[in-house]
Amino acid sequence: PSSSSSSSSPNTTRPTPTSTHHQPPDNSFRVMQWNILAQALGTNTDNFVRCPPEALDWNTRKFRIVEEMLTYLPQFICCQEVDHYKFLESVMERLGYCGVFMPKPDSPCLYLPNNNGPDGCAIFWDDTRFKLLNTHTRVVEVWHVQSNQVVILLVLEERSTGQQLVLLTTHLKARQGALLASLRNEQGKDLLTFMDQHCKGRPIIICGDFNAEPSEPVYTTMTDTSTGLHSAYSFLHDHTEPSYSTWKVRGEVDCCQNLDYIFYTPDKLTVEGGYDVPTEEDMGPNRAPSLSYPSDHFALICDFTFKKTQLEDE
Ligand code: NDP
Ligand code: CA
Repeated sequence: PSSSSSSSSPNTTRPTPTSTHHQPPDNSFRVMQWNILAQALGTNTDNFVRCPPEALDWNTRKFRIVEEMLTYLPQFICCQEVDHYKFLESVMERLGYCGVFMPKPDSPCLYLPNNNGPDGCAIFWDDTRFKLLNTHTRVVEVWHVQSNQVVILLVLEERSTGQQLVLLTTHLKARQGALLASLRNEQGKDLLTFMDQHCKGRPIIICGDFNAEPSEPVYTTMTDTSTGLHSAYSFLHDHTEPSYSTWKVRGEVDCCQNLDYIFYTPDKLTVEGGYDVPTEEDMGPNRAPSLSYPSDHFALICDFTFKKTQLEDE
């Protein structure tokens, strides 16, 4: 279902390598960040008026989601809005991946017709290459009160080298307005405290739908020098974030926003390259989701290598 003869359909919506993308070295590993669009939200509340209903049919959309994951074969896949975890887990485990799922405490999906349970965050990892050492999950707190957002934190070890890595994913509170931007900022601070408790000097990658443009306080909080974190896509684009990671038509409104990020510790990891999100031309006027692309958010995909430690250099 990835191509159509309709004139309004895009030719392709596959990300293409960024200009800085080289053939990734053999010892690199690939990370995917993707809000896959909860089936219950996409078909009930999202108001994607330009998306053909058949593009949202789960019987075919589920395979387009898997296709996107398998096109790039990432070692790590961080997803948000997962409301069909069992399906994804059953497919991914046959391909050598293991997964962890953390539902939102009071998912909006639960209140919608034909829902498949709560949505939440999930991480899949290539178990042939990395083994899981520890899993920590958290309901994000704001001013010491639990919110409806969650974080998954995994401690992993590369089997061949013993190199460890901390990987986190989250989906921060949606919607616009100063109060919500401030709430997201508090959520970001809580996530960083949680990260500090578990990172113990290891390299860190944080993937998420932060629901925040780079101008929002939470972006500044995440990339403050005290965190040691940088944004991988900003690095790949001359230290400027791309103009969008999601582009959809909601009712009358064309919503083009950059909300998704891959943050990493540049003192311990090198970004070797990445893939650009689809161009406006690729997408066509109906934007996403569509018959060619199964979510309203695009997958961010980056290749990393571990930097040599001083001990290894000596
Ligand atoms: P959020 O406010 O974080 O948003 C939930 C989802 O809505 C996100 O996945 C978000 O997607 C999507 N979204 C963002 N903007 C819009 C929009 N303009 N139109 C449609 N969908 C949008 O949810 P919370 O987890 O904080 O849960 C609270 C929400 O859940 C409330 O807004 C309420 O509507 C609903 N709810 C309803 C209940 C009920 O009916 N009784 C009970 C509990 C909750 P993205 O991240 O991609 O932007
Ligand atoms: Ca959404």
